[in-house]
Amino acid sequence: MQSLAPRENNLGPQSNLRNHLRFRPYFSLPFPGYWREDEMRQHWCFIGEIVQDVSLVRLSVNVRDVEGNELLVAFHTNDRGESFRARCMRGSTFVLLYAKQYNFVFGEHGFRIEEEHLPFLKVFDIPLESLLRINDKLHAGAYADQCGLCGKQGVSARCSGCSTVLYCGKRCQVSAWKAAVPPGGHKEECKILRALVWFTQRDWSTFNGKFRFA
Ligand SMILES: [Zn+2]
Ligand SMILES: [Zn+2]
Repeated sequence: MQSLAPRENNLGPQSNLRNHLRFRPYFSLPFPGYWREDEMRQHWCFIGEIVQDVSLVRLSVNVRDVEGNELLVAFHTNDRGESFRARCMRGSTFVLLYAKQYNFVFGEHGFRIEEEHLPFLKVFDIPLESLLRINDKLHAGAYADQCGLCGKQGVSARCSGCSTVLYCGKRCQVSAWKAAVPPGGHKEECKILRALVWFTQRDWSTFNGKFRFA
């Protein structure tokens, strides 16, 4: 259970995961060498859901993007992806900043993950559909100024976990934590909103160097 804290809710420009200029399906990504590195002065990101583990000698997973394309992600890192194995579960969301298309020798499309990609790669323990559902609520202003449980207007105390959902008081917050709606209660919703904070606290419209996860 998180405590209540006052805080303003600011969504970064173009941080909506439905913005296809910033959050691109696979076939909208650039090819390697298509742009020179110094010409790529903009932010973009690939997001997909891990649908299958197809590992042989290295960690390899199939990822499905928002258009339904299935791609191969193969870890050619020093540890052959071992450090990501536990996180790359079916139903997790795979995010790769500044991703470019890659054609493997047997014709598959996808990403060949090298050591240099690791700061730009993140796997969230959340299905893509859940991430997008809460993203849509957030950007539609559903959490704007009313209690997340009883709907009372003009309240200002926020859950300190996600800094997003408002409650009129402790009682509503406690009930919401394990409520049936949304699925998993605010406990699950809070986790998803915390993941979204990484995206929403950034300005995706202005380039001052690359974003990175670590
Ligand atoms: Zn309330
Ligand atoms: Zn929360």
